[in-house]
Amino acid sequence: MTPYVADPVYLNGQFLPLAAAGISPLDRGFLYGDGVYEVIPVYSRRAFRIDEHLKRLQATLDGIKLANPLPVDAWKEVVFKLIASAPWDDQSIYLQVTRGADDKRDHAFPPATVTPTAFAFASPLVTTPAEVRARGVAAITVPDLRWSRCDLKVISLLANVLARQQAVEQGCAEALLLRDGWLKEGAASNIFVVRDGVLLAPPKTQLMLPGITYDVILELAAQHGQALEVREISETELRAADEVWMTSSTKEILAITTLDGQPVGHGKNAGRPGPVGEQMWQWYQDFKNTVMRKG
Ligand code: PMP
Repeated sequence: MTPYVADPVYLNGQFLPLAAAGISPLDRGFLYGDGVYEVIPVYSRRAFRIDEHLKRLQATLDGIKLANPLPVDAWKEVVFKLIASAPWDDQSIYLQVTRGADDKRDHAFPPATVTPTAFAFASPLVTTPAEVRARGVAAITVPDLRWSRCDLKVISLLANVLARQQAVEQGCAEALLLRDGWLKEGAASNIFVVRDGVLLAPPKTQLMLPGITYDVILELAAQHGQALEVREISETELRAADEVWMTSSTKEILAITTLDGQPVGHGKNAGRPGPVGEQMWQWYQDFKNTVMRKG
């Protein structure tokens, strides 16, 4: 076991130590980035929204025309076994399926005799330290250089990798992706904006990943009567925002308090996490402790 990956991992029907898990260098995941993935958070050994994650996995597999190697119940068995074997109560389960390894390199799909590669492992759920959350994080904006099916959770993540690296090199936690003057999402997160007490969320289109956390935020907003508009957000609105947050299964809700070196927000909240985000974080924690941890 590494401190990050629990043993055993799952690979093609077997549970085995990470050190013993191997795939062909001709695997299309390696050659082409031809595959899909999912990340499922686990709280108190309960997989959060596993059905929704497996549904999104299926939608992505359908989107790249790859048959799911496992039925839903078999995936659940894999996930539950990884959770039970790992030493942590809060975890992150990673699933990946690629189009497998042919005996040659050819862009077009391999023959049906080539079976997909299915891989999964558990790691500890790394949460944001309280002091970082209290301060918020810095972000930059970058042009969105990705393809036109960002709704698919595919492993070809080069544009996301380069965007995130650009952020890290500037001492920032995230890169916000702007396409034609519109805010889409972060390199590995969805982005919400608050203006005049109204929560704004970019709509689910083919240019944004439909986050499972994004759905939870919309549900919590509806449940608690938080004013919400799901619509496109312009770069101008982003820069004039009272609050900006990033959300994901592992980051939960994290305030972005500096954007391109400028403080986010106005008046006494400028450059600090704002009240709507703080409230949403509290609703999210309550939801996690009452629903997610209890199952
Ligand atoms: N957008 C992108 C590009 C992502 O990679 C992720 C997940 N890391 C998200 C949004 C958030 O999705 P989720 O809430 O399901 O983690």
